[in-house]
Parts: sequence; C-alpha cells; structure tokens
Amino acid sequence: MPIRYYSTNRHVNAVEGITPFTEDVSFQEALLAGQAPDEGLFMPDRIPQLSMGDIIALRDKPYWQAALLVSSAFLSEEFTPDVLESIVKDAYNYPVPLEAVYPRAFILRLDQGPTASFKDFAARMMARLMSHCRPHGERINILVATSGDTGSAVGEAYKGVSGIDVNILYPAGEVSPMQKKQLDTISGNVQALCVDGKFDDCQNLVKEAFADPELACFNLSSANSINFGRILPQMVYYVYAYAQLAGAGEEVLVSVPSGNFGDALGCEYARRMGLPVAKLIMPTNENDEFPVFLETGKYQKVSPSRACISNAMNVGHPSNLARFFELYGGTVDRSGRVHRYPDLDQMRHRIFSVSVTDEQTRRTIKSVYERYHVILEPHGAVGWAGLETYQQKTGDSRLAICLETAHPAKFPDEIKELLGIEPEPPESMKDLARRDGSAINISKDFASFKKYLQSHLKIRK
Ligand SMILES: *Cc1c(COP(=O)(O)O)cnc(C)c1O
Repeated sequence: MPIRYYSTNRHVNAVEGITPFTEDVSFQEALLAGQAPDEGLFMPDRIPQLSMGDIIALRDKPYWQAALLVSSAFLSEEFTPDVLESIVKDAYNYPVPLEAVYPRAFILRLDQGPTASFKDFAARMMARLMSHCRPHGERINILVATSGDTGSAVGEAYKGVSGIDVNILYPAGEVSPMQKKQLDTISGNVQALCVDGKFDDCQNLVKEAFADPELACFNLSSANSINFGRILPQMVYYVYAYAQLAGAGEEVLVSVPSGNFGDALGCEYARRMGLPVAKLIMPTNENDEFPVFLETGKYQKVSPSRACISNAMNVGHPSNLARFFELYGGTVDRSGRVHRYPDLDQMRHRIFSVSVTDEQTRRTIKSVYERYHVILEPHGAVGWAGLETYQQKTGDSRLAICLETAHPAKFPDEIKELLGIEPEPPESMKDLARRDGSAINISKDFASFKKYLQSHLKIRK
C-alpha cells in the first residue's frame, strides 16, 4: 500500500476561515501543492521502518546511498528505483563531513553545498523530485519570496533542473550585498526580481499571483519550507551520521539548532523509522516559545520574533510545530492557536529544548574554538550550547551528534571579532565576486508584476 498524506488541520472544525481537508493525497500531489487546501501541513499516514542492518551497512558508503535508502522507504510506490538513484546521485555531489570535537561528540557539517547552508540538502532533492513528477510535457514556474538565504538555496537547487523555471523576489533594501550577489547571479532558468518594497510586499505579490485565475495556465508552484518534499531529505543525514559513528543499536544524542523545526522534524521521523535517538535536543535562540511550552505546558507564540545573531532561526511560531504536535497527538494551527494539546509527558521524555541567548552563543563560539580548535558559526553554536546544557543537567554521556547548519565563512565579522581569524570560505563562495548576472527591478504593484509574468513565463517545452 502506498503511503498517503493528510492535513494537520483535518479535525479543526468550526474555525473561521478553515474548511478542514479530510481527504488524503499521494506524495506527488503533496509535493506539487506544497500545503493542504485548508492551510494545514501534509503528514504521511504511515512511517516506514528501516532495519538496523540496512542502516549499519551505510558505513563508509557515499552519502547518496543513505539518501536512496530513506527516500525509497517513502517513495518506492511512486518512483522507480532508477529514477530515485539518479536523483540522489545528482543532488548529493558534495562532501558531508563529520568532525570530532572530542572522542564521543561530533559536529555534522551540512555546509558544503552550493550555498553553504543545510537548506541545500532539502532544496536540491525537492527540485529533482518535482522535475520528475511534472504533468506531462508541462513546465512548472516556481515563485519564491525571500528575505535572505532561503532564496539562494532554492535558486541554486533548481538551477539547470529541466522543465522548471524559478523567479525569486527579494526586497531591494533588505538583503546584504553578498546575498544580493548570490541571488542575482544564479542565471539560466533562475531569475532574481529585485522588488522596490519590503519582504511583505514580495510575499503579497506571490500570494496574489497564486490566486489569479489568469495566471493558472503557468502551473505556478512554491518551494517553501513546509513542503513534505523538503522534510524527507532532512531525515537522511541523521541516518548517515549514525551509520558512520555508532555501533549497531547504540543509542545516541542528537542536537539540532531550531527555527522553523523542519530540520529537527527530520530527526523525529528518522527516529520513528527506527534510528535509536535517545534524546532529540532542540535548542532555540531567544525565540523561546517551544522551550517555554515544554516547561509550562502552555503555548504562546513570540510576536514579533526576536532578532538574534543566529538570524535564520528568528522564528516566533515555527511552522513545523504543527507536525510535531500531530506526531504527539495534538493540533496547532498556523496562527499559533492550540486546538488539542499533545502528550506533554511523552514529548518531555523524548525531546529536550532550551533557549540560548546571543551572549551564550558568542561565548560558545569562543570556548569551543579555544578548547577544541573547532570553528562554529552562530547557528551551530546554539546547537552545541544546547547539547552542553543537556549534558550538564543530566550527566548523559552517550555518543553525541550536533549539527552545524551553515559555514562559518558566512559570518566573517562575528567570527573575526570573537576569534580573531577569518574562516576560509568554501569553494562555492570563493568565485562569487567573479560571477555575473543581474536582477530585474520591479515595483511592488501587482498589475506590473502580472504583466512581467505574462510576458516572461513559459508554458511548455
Ligand atoms: C533555516 C536554518 C536553520 C533552522 O532550521 P529549521 O528547519 O527552520 O529549524 C538553522 N540554521 C541555518 C543556517 C538555517 O538556514
């Protein structure tokens, strides 16, 4: 039986503005739709199991084999083995280093992809899956609104992927010069649109475009982080790291610096597939709605979100919290309203969360470098600080894996100030200055954006 996907909002009756979506869809339908029609998130109705033998057999194997094992478990009814193999080989053509901090604690560096961020893992896989499940012969046009790093990870991921064109909208005054360069120079089937407005204006343009019946012929699609096609690839590196480091059946600790909770959700699924994760550690920055919830049992989103140096985690109501609640028997909607509380005892038993301040983040970057000569950037440092807090509280000395989600060279000023060194940029960032390409400037007015779309987007090829 193929796995089917249902909406987290299916039980939310009598809530204004929501008509619960009570059907279920295939993976391919969930992938192309992104979100359920009731604005809930798609969830698989069954979680496939991996055997310990299959996991351990990944030791010393290339990363793509782990990706093949995990994705086949979910997708074998909808994609042939050949297709899946070619997708994962093409997506994962860069190293995935594990760096020992001390003998029983490791940093999993997810920063070697084209944009030096862990978001490359999910975006590259999703792009290739989408290309394969296009309605026959038709193009897909992706519209993304971004205020920073997500846009370039998505853009790079879709570059050269056949049958898909991407337009990335970003606010003229709200991206850094480096981000602008990254976005403007992707080229080929990926076009940057520099909007004379704010991030909200970019989001509104995209929203209006999706709602406009005259643009329906262009197969508009999004590539946002709540797509289940982005969660699936984020289960893989936990399985991969475990296979490289742990003995068969050994229980491990995993620490995942968390913002929208998509990354940590990948770990929660991997655990439910059979990976022996004793504790999932989910440290946040000063946006502490989740650690406060675990402690008090009351959920209150942080609004507006707090600006911290681990800026990709400045999230006051994590979108994937709806999936965590669902997995633990609860329901929360997009606005942060709880309809049914999850099993808190079970959550506390399996998950540890703590809020890490900016000051603690900086101190961690310094101390990890001084003690172990390992360079962390702010997101990874939140992860490490969370792990240390957990270990100090419990004395738990199990094998530990902590994720580093971005490359330290993306935070040159912070690192220079704290450590007095300039981290060597990865290959993908070195040639940035030499790349060319330019954005198209557009206004925040929908009529002119629509005209642009109608004259530039393609329907077939
Ligand atoms: C997006 C991001 C995170 C947070 O991941 P979530 O899945 O949103 O929890 C952490 N670090 C970096 C560098 C990111 O870009």
